Amino acid sequence: MNFELTDEQKEVKNAAREFAEKEFSRELALECEEQGRFPHGLWKKAADLGFIGINIPEEYGGQGMGLLEKVLVLEEFFRADPSLGFIYITTFGSELILNNGTEEQKKKYITPIARGEAMMGMAVTEPEHGSDILKLDTVAVKDGDEWVINGTKTFISNGPVADWLVVVCQTDPEAKPPYRGQSMFIVETNCDGFEAVELKGKMGMHLIKTSELYFNDVRVPAENLLGEENKGFYQLLGMLNETRTGLAARCIGIAQGALERSVRYARQRKQFGRPIIEFQAIQHKLAEMATKVEAARLLTYQAAWFFDQGKPDPMLTSMAKYYASRTAVEVSNDAIQVHGGYGYFAEYDVERCFRNARIAEITEGTSEIQKNTIASMLKKRIR
Ligand SMILES: Cc1cc2nc3c(=O)[nH]c(=O)nc-3n(C[C@H](O)[C@H](O)[C@H](O)COP(=O)(O)OP(=O)(O)OC[C@H]3O[C@@H](n4cnc5c(N)ncnc54)[C@H](O)[C@@H]3O)c2cc1C
Repeated sequence: MNFELTDEQKEVKNAAREFAEKEFSRELALECEEQGRFPHGLWKKAADLGFIGINIPEEYGGQGMGLLEKVLVLEEFFRADPSLGFIYITTFGSELILNNGTEEQKKKYITPIARGEAMMGMAVTEPEHGSDILKLDTVAVKDGDEWVINGTKTFISNGPVADWLVVVCQTDPEAKPPYRGQSMFIVETNCDGFEAVELKGKMGMHLIKTSELYFNDVRVPAENLLGEENKGFYQLLGMLNETRTGLAARCIGIAQGALERSVRYARQRKQFGRPIIEFQAIQHKLAEMATKVEAARLLTYQAAWFFDQGKPDPMLTSMAKYYASRTAVEVSNDAIQVHGGYGYFAEYDVERCFRNARIAEITEGTSEIQKNTIASMLKKRIR
């Protein structure tokens, strides 16, 4: 396969780069990081220019492009700034509605997301179920024309600020295996019995509110069932090919940004009478960083390309997610080393690169879970 981007894709990448370089300022990033504040103005601007809904179909307010185009935008956003790139996370879970929703659900819940008029999130994780989501403790029980939800979700991104959430519940606790008894619901967060409590003290991702969610007899109308009853687990797996590739894109952006900052710094920082870039130890570190970034980029583009051809490959997606997140952590860590003591301070962006990269090895399936997926596919594919 040849990864020459099409002219249109190059234009998308250039436009995202131009926008991010102009609008993503370090001052804004540091202010939002310090205050735990989401940059609403920047998000709205990005949405108005079509970046937030880049791969949402045009009939629902998006640009109708593919996952690869979304990858290019995410890469450029996170390259420009490892914190402000998170403005895109307002769409998390929209994939589930697009893939499984009715026409009414898509019109009602996707259009405002593409336009930057609403935020959403997706809630699977529970206090007792993180990697193991084969059975869930949050239950939804049918009562006439409504479903009644009870339970607790944790670590949910956007929880306190989302206008609606896709919530995965156990609808048939007796199902064997239990994952065949899970369903998804769209929950509007202004309903009775719903509470979101922000979890403080995160290492990174300070712009995004992460929360514990409480569902206490939350009633949702029957039409808010998303997709098929008891098929929620399979619908979730379908989404992961897309969102894990997006997460890998975020990682190559952070890593590329850390690499570029390191090359620039190494060129201007002098020790022993010469720029540190003249030391071979520094050159080799930069060479290793650049090689990892390029390898992660190719894996990620390839995973997105297969997805856009209608042939998503879970093994490739897991490889991209696992390798790109490791690369972002290693390259950001090396970038701190190249910057010496200055790299340890917030003023130099590489510290933020590291803190915001680290989460990618945990969310949407930890690196260990990605390796489990890769290994199980290897067992099937190599006889
Ligand atoms: C900042 C943040 C934002 C998040 N946002 C969301 C969100 O929006 N929505 C949502 O639903 N969730 C979200 N999560 C939850 C995230 O997806 C989980 O944290 C993740 O799936 C891991 O679950 P856990 O934390 O319970 O760890 P555990 O599952 O308890 O894992 C602990 C360790 O054991 C390892 N382990 C577990 N099982 C295996 C196995 N079978 N083989 C090998 N190793 C294994 C793990 O890899 C890990 O190293 C978020 C988490 C964080 C920290």
